Amino acid sequence: MVTSLYDLDRAQLAEALADQPRYRVDQVWRGLWEERRPLGAITTVPLALRARLAEQFPSGLSARAAVDSDRGATRKWVFALHDGATIETVLMRYHDRVTVCVSTQAGCAMGCSFCATGQAGFTRHLRAGEIVEQVLVAAAAAAPLRLSNVVFMGMGEPLANYDATVGALRRLHDALGLSARHLTVSTVGVAPAIERLAREGLALTLAVSLHAANDALRDELVPLNRRYPLDRLFAACESWVAATGRRLSLEWALIAGVNDTPARLRELADFATGLRAHVNLIPLNPTPGYPVRGSDPATVRAAQASLREWGVNATVRDTRGRSIAAACGQLATVTRGRRRLAVRAVAPEGPAPARERHRAHDAGDPA
Ligand code: SAH
Ligand code: SF4
Repeated sequence: MVTSLYDLDRAQLAEALADQPRYRVDQVWRGLWEERRPLGAITTVPLALRARLAEQFPSGLSARAAVDSDRGATRKWVFALHDGATIETVLMRYHDRVTVCVSTQAGCAMGCSFCATGQAGFTRHLRAGEIVEQVLVAAAAAAPLRLSNVVFMGMGEPLANYDATVGALRRLHDALGLSARHLTVSTVGVAPAIERLAREGLALTLAVSLHAANDALRDELVPLNRRYPLDRLFAACESWVAATGRRLSLEWALIAGVNDTPARLRELADFATGLRAHVNLIPLNPTPGYPVRGSDPATVRAAQASLREWGVNATVRDTRGRSIAAACGQLATVTRGRRRLAVRAVAPEGPAPARERHRAHDAGDPA
């Protein structure tokens, strides 16, 4: 197995540096985690030692391309992993916070009908180090702004890759010093894993991608619902709230004529009220494999107003990265598009697409 420096805990790093003076461990650890520097930039460590570490624990990601949008406030990377699988990562700078959206798997096995990642299928799980390294690359790019939030909303289902997800969360919290409440895990609803996560003692934010609050429709949109239907999911959400005391978010991609009608929204309101959950409305982004469109802006506003009238706290998610297909969770397989965008190649050995076509998408960040 290929291990990167970001997979090592402090004891493992000390073991790797057993032939060195003790303070080298501190220098490398502090450089990587407290100063958030890439190994090559930890200049307190001799060049030869850095070279040895780089060879022994190669970086897990190599950037194939980086695309900026929102006048530079949003950047999306395409990274190749050591085995050639590709993932995407998005950095979003807001006036009050800097957020990175990370992938937890290359592809996804959950097969949600409306999701580009789901349509493309599963390649493999990411290791914790590969998840964490996405954060550190984004943190370096954000400087001098300080990265504050991480959302696990990129490619893949975090709770289907449980150990790597929790390993990455712990590393981000313990070593990088990010506040747990600034870490958000988005899940399609793997009920037993939600219950397990509730017992980890991490006060993070959980977002559940609901999209339908009746089983017949949710079976269609989210195949995992057949395994963990709404009653089961509701019970898992209840135990999350009871164990953590944290508010839960429900994600709802508004699909025209499918889940934006008063009857469907009423079902959502009932589900949300029982959990005192917050609702994030996201107009569905078109994907090549799903013919139905997102709700129009007037319907989105009306949906929000109805939910609020019924006493549910509902927000419409911001649409960062629209022009670069930077949507968290729907980053893959973009083949047809409306606009042309310059793509800056960042890896000399990469395919260096000078121009690429992308479909317009949203990127979200729960406020
Ligand atoms: N697998 C996890 C996290 C990644 S998906 C999950 O499903 O929650 C992140 C978010 O993007 C989810 O809420 C997902 O439902 C949403 N999403 C996927 N495809 C979308 C689309 N075409 N339009 C809008 N949101 C979408
Ligand atoms: Fe996977 Fe989430 Fe996409 Fe569903 S919405 S296919 S769980 S990434």
